[in-house]
Amino acid sequence: FRYGEASEVVVPTPNGKVYFGENHPIVVVAGPCSVENEQMIVETAKRVKAAGAKFIRGGAYKPRTSPYAFQGHGETALGLLAAAREATGLGIITEVMDTADLEAVGRVADVIQVGARNMHNFSLLKKVGAQDKPVLLKRGMSATIDEWLMAAEYILAGGNPNVILCERGIRTFDGKYARNTLDLSVLPVLRSLTHLPIMIDPSHGTGRSEYVTPMAKAAIAAGTDALMIEVHPNPAKALSDGPQSLTPDKFDILAQEMAVIGKVV
Ligand code: PEP
Ligand code: MN
Repeated sequence: FRYGEASEVVVPTPNGKVYFGENHPIVVVAGPCSVENEQMIVETAKRVKAAGAKFIRGGAYKPRTSPYAFQGHGETALGLLAAAREATGLGIITEVMDTADLEAVGRVADVIQVGARNMHNFSLLKKVGAQDKPVLLKRGMSATIDEWLMAAEYILAGGNPNVILCERGIRTFDGKYARNTLDLSVLPVLRSLTHLPIMIDPSHGTGRSEYVTPMAKAAIAAGTDALMIEVHPNPAKALSDGPQSLTPDKFDILAQEMAVIGKVV
C-alpha cells in the first residue's frame, strides 16, 4: 500500500509553502463552515491569518442533512474564497461534493476537501486521485481506520500522493452532549500505520464551541500535525454550524493557548 510512503505534504500558497507532517510545526486551518458573503469570508481570513492560521476554510458546496437547509453558494462562494486568498495570501481549503464540480473547485482550492459523508464515494476518490491538488480526506462518521486508509489508498493509487487525513469525530452511542466522539486515539494508531499527515477537527468532533479549545489542546498533546477550527464572525447568525464555531476573539485566545503547548505555525 502507498499510504505508508509519503511523509509530508507540501502545499504552495501565496504566502509561501506550507508543510504538513510529523517533522513540521502544527498547521492551523480556520474559517467558517460556509462561505456566506464576501465581507465575512475576507474579514474572517484576515483575523485567522493574524492569529497564525495558514489556510482559510469555508464551504461552497455543503453536505446538509436536510435538503431544505442552506446548501452553500456554490460557484459564487468559490469566487469569494478567491477574494479572501487575494486579500490575505492564505491557502484555501474547500470541499468538493460532486465530480461535476471538481474542476471549478480545483481552480480555487489549494487543498481539496473530501467530506466525511463522501469518504466512501469511490468515483469521487478516483477523480481527486487523478488531479494534482492535495486532498484533505475526512474520516467517515462510521468508518473504521482500515476503511479510511483504503479510501486514502484510492487517491494515492490514482497518482496523487498528497493526502492529509482528518479525524472529525465518529458516531457512538452517546450523542447527547457532543455531536460526535472525537477519536484522538487515531493519532498514535495512524502513526503506526501510515506516514500520511494527520489533522484533527475538534469543531465537527464536538459540535460545541466550548469544547473546541480543550480538544484542540489534547490533539496537540497527542501529536497532531494540523488542526481545523471553525471560526465565524457571528456564530449566532451562522448559516451552518454556528454552535461549534468560535468567534475570531475566541480563536485568538485558542491560538495563544495552543502556542504554549505545541509548536504551532
Ligand atoms: C465541514 O468541514 O464543514 C464538514 C461538512 O465536515 P464533515 O464532512 O467532517 O462533516
Ligand atoms: Mn461545518
